[in-house]
Amino acid sequence: MARLTQKQLNQLSKNFEERTPDELLRWAKEIFGDRASAISAMQKSGSVMCHMISRLKLDIPVLFVDTGVMYQETLETRDRMSSEYGLDVRTLHPEMTMAEQTDKLGVLYLSVEGQEQCCHMRKVEPLLKAKGEYDALIGSLRRADGGRRGVCPLLAVDTEMNAVRINPMANFTDEQMAAYLEENDVIINPLHKQGFATIGCNRCTTPILPHEVKRAGRWRHLGTAAAYCGINPTDVSDGDSQSIDLPQDLIDRILGQKTDFMI
Ligand code: SF4
Repeated sequence: MARLTQKQLNQLSKNFEERTPDELLRWAKEIFGDRASAISAMQKSGSVMCHMISRLKLDIPVLFVDTGVMYQETLETRDRMSSEYGLDVRTLHPEMTMAEQTDKLGVLYLSVEGQEQCCHMRKVEPLLKAKGEYDALIGSLRRADGGRRGVCPLLAVDTEMNAVRINPMANFTDEQMAAYLEENDVIINPLHKQGFATIGCNRCTTPILPHEVKRAGRWRHLGTAAAYCGINPTDVSDGDSQSIDLPQDLIDRILGQKTDFMI
């Protein structure tokens, strides 16, 4: 094993800034092969990413974390991704049902500290069950969504998963998104048409008013104290000093360099 640092990825990200989502998805498949998966919460940008993976015939599985308290529309969108786009959608679950968790720990999502614990148990820990299966996780974060996402990197180390996070749609604008959705008649979560800008658990997501920022509907009951669940590490940490361990030959392929093993 060798070390891949965020600094190395930052340089590569700079070189990739002009690449399209299609080019970045193809790169991910070429470099990581079967060790790449996508991750989607079945929101609009995730649907576009799923459509791209299907259209490009990349044969990349899609991880979906079902917290057990998702909206029915979200689960139906997931099912359509698999039945209509032919995607291999792999659903990950938390250890406890929400009822079991509440019996044991109370209603966690009603306090800021509890929300962090609940999101960790119901979102982050299920994803960690896939640790070791993949060296790359492809997400659909976009800078146009603002907040922490306004500076989301194309490539980032994920120390908990020991994998590279790839955001091929980081530079995809709202206008490009709207055009892509229309041109390709992409399946989207019906809740978007009902005032939801972003969609998470049914306990913690509401529609937003026209003047509100996109994430105003997330943890509204906690005020401005909570904005992200932590399943995307770049939402909660800049990671600039972090690194992960991968095979040397894979790191060489990622960075586009060759190691001379004769030296
Ligand atoms: S969004 Fe709410 S219900 Fe869902 S895992 Fe986080 S705190 Fe729990």
